[in-house]
Amino acid sequence: MSEDGQLSPSSAAERIGIFGGTFDPPHMGHLIAAECAADALGLNRVLFVPAADPPHKRDKTILAVRHRLAMVEAAIADNPRFVLSEIDLTRPGPHYSADMVHLLHEAQPDACLFLVIGGDSLVDFPTWNRPAVILRYATLAVIQRPAASVDWPQLVAQVPELDGRVQFIAAPELAITATALRQRARAGQSLRYQVPDAVRAYIEQQQLYR
Ligand code: ATP
Repeated sequence: MSEDGQLSPSSAAERIGIFGGTFDPPHMGHLIAAECAADALGLNRVLFVPAADPPHKRDKTILAVRHRLAMVEAAIADNPRFVLSEIDLTRPGPHYSADMVHLLHEAQPDACLFLVIGGDSLVDFPTWNRPAVILRYATLAVIQRPAASVDWPQLVAQVPELDGRVQFIAAPELAITATALRQRARAGQSLRYQVPDAVRAYIEQQQLYR
């Protein structure tokens, strides 16, 4: 509090976005979603949280953590609001969002946490591990996605804690997926304009997704 009784900026609760993912590779869809969430919610920063061992992708082959980490670092380097978090790289997996938001809450109990997810992920949210725990510590910031229609009454019937804990974020709809990018790279097609140049350079230099 300053002498004239005004709250100083540092005393306001920090508003933190959390953007978890596999990032195999990170792409413009991720970056635009995070930037729109940051603007819409007045976030001080967005944590990019690559998961070393994402539980829903255990049956799939994913790129080694060091490459995904390097690509996320390259993707967010020029954005002062975007920060890498290694919380799901440095603890043992499987990396459930419930544990991650709980740990982030414990690290910064006064912060307002927003878990940023795509609309496609909201549809699956009731099947996530301990959704009520996630909602205890974080509000969901849901990015509108093409082809992701949400049956809201059904969702709330499945997870009543969703009520009042979801903010929908308008963002340009980009139907980019990491799956499609890996297929393009494998077919020798260009990733230009779909991933940041620094990510494209890393993929080429390391000869990934061949
Ligand atoms: P994959 O195709 O390998 O499943 P992905 O492109 O969906 O990957 P992830 O790293 O699995 O990327 O996704 C992390 C988060 O980013 C999820 O919440 C997902 O809904 C969201 N997301 C992915 N692509 C987009 C996009 N084009 N626009 C907005 N959000 C996206």
